Amino acid sequence: MLPLVALVGRPNVGKSTLFNALTRTRDALVHDEPGVTRDRNYGTCRLDADNPFLIVDTGGIAGEEEGLAGATARQSRAAAAEADLILFVVDGREGPSALDDEILAWLRKLSRPTMLLINKADGVEANGMRADFAHYGFGEMLAVSAAHRQGLDDLVEEVLERLPEEGTTETLDDDPERIRIAFVGRPNVGKSTLVNRLLGEERMIASDVPGTTRDSIAVDLERDDRKYRLIDTAGLRRRSRVDEAVEKFSVFKTMQSIEQTQVAVLMLDASEGVTDQDATVLGAVLDAGKALVIALNKWDGRSDYEREQAETLLSLKFPFVPWAEAVRISAVHGTGMRELFAAIHRAHASATKEFSTAEVNKALEVAVESNPPPSVRGHVSKLRYVHPGGSNPPTFIVHGTRLKELPDSYKRYLENFFRKRFKLVGTPVSFLFREGA
Ligand code: GDP
Ligand code: GDP
Repeated sequence: MLPLVALVGRPNVGKSTLFNALTRTRDALVHDEPGVTRDRNYGTCRLDADNPFLIVDTGGIAGEEEGLAGATARQSRAAAAEADLILFVVDGREGPSALDDEILAWLRKLSRPTMLLINKADGVEANGMRADFAHYGFGEMLAVSAAHRQGLDDLVEEVLERLPEEGTTETLDDDPERIRIAFVGRPNVGKSTLVNRLLGEERMIASDVPGTTRDSIAVDLERDDRKYRLIDTAGLRRRSRVDEAVEKFSVFKTMQSIEQTQVAVLMLDASEGVTDQDATVLGAVLDAGKALVIALNKWDGRSDYEREQAETLLSLKFPFVPWAEAVRISAVHGTGMRELFAAIHRAHASATKEFSTAEVNKALEVAVESNPPPSVRGHVSKLRYVHPGGSNPPTFIVHGTRLKELPDSYKRYLENFFRKRFKLVGTPVSFLFREGA
């Protein structure tokens, strides 16, 4: 499981600048999908590609305690309390303030591993800044410039040194025959009901997979002669470990399980429709670039009218993931399971499909022939060739000239063309464009 690092600090010290610098997504791997409510306050740092970790930007720790701001503050505190490491960010130019002192007092009470991070150390002598914060009592005080991306590699190195060992390097052993699935979704959509049903119904031996860490847990499942590994779902944890009352929705835990999965099954409650929390979980799946199946649960006992409403809501709220299959299930009655697993297989097969350079070039040729790139301000992009750039999600690297002028609508056309031609469903598809012949 990926460890969690929380950025804590008063407003304007540069937390979000730092957050963006640490989590910038590689190339255009995950292009922004319009319409996803994305709480952009959590992400994955991959500056050290072998040792990713999650980061949460906790805005508003010391904010007003009323209304929305109060809710944000509570969430931030919860995130900090869950973190493996807290980065206490301060502004080196302004020096310590009363608000910093308050946050420090709160952090001491929290007593999580904490590092002091002095930001805005660009063009200013760092030792003077350190002297200003010496009385805070942190042994080491790292100085960085988030805006100028200075000191970030050292920062990541320091962070990794302080994170729990097992969290950083371990991955579940890879059995290519076993599809890794995570059932994700907000509380009460029916995750544990479904998981328990799957485990019970198939009479498999639910064994904790050895080598998993801390509160992560995975269970192997066999069904119709196919093998699966269910990754760290609330359902699994609830059965065997945590007291139900204690279990609470955590987008970070969800992200941790998504990171380890191949196919995420986003469960929705058909009796309640699509909520913002559902969209947040969806955003986490899309951020991770994982294959996705949408399961509309509690389909039992719905009137025709309610079913129609659920369908409409789904198509209204998730129009930007038209590639994801939605299946209607009832975890309680066990209906829709065959369809669910068929969709999981299609998504998995699409996400892991291998392509030859010849077949993708043929596809590009046909795509361009039947619909050439449009002229933009008198210039026309030229798409010369393409090669496969990996799977999970399937990635295509297109080389050519004047690619900056290629309109988004044309990129979508290419994506749709490739999807159709190679029957890619249930997975995001990534196109990277490289200038040059
Ligand atoms: P947050 O409220 O803590 O999230 O702070 P922001 O990231 O929004 O930054 C507040 C202001 O400080 C913005 O105007 C940033 O441009 C500026 N800032 C952030 N990092 C640095 C830095 O490393 N050096 C300097 N000089 N300014 C910075
Ligand atoms: P979780 O928090 O996502 O793990 O949700 P639970 O599995 O604990 O389910 C929450 C509630 O929804 C429980 O009362 C379940 O009995 C109920 N529930 C789950 N699946 C279904 C279903 O398919 N149909 C109906 N009618 N209720 C369901």
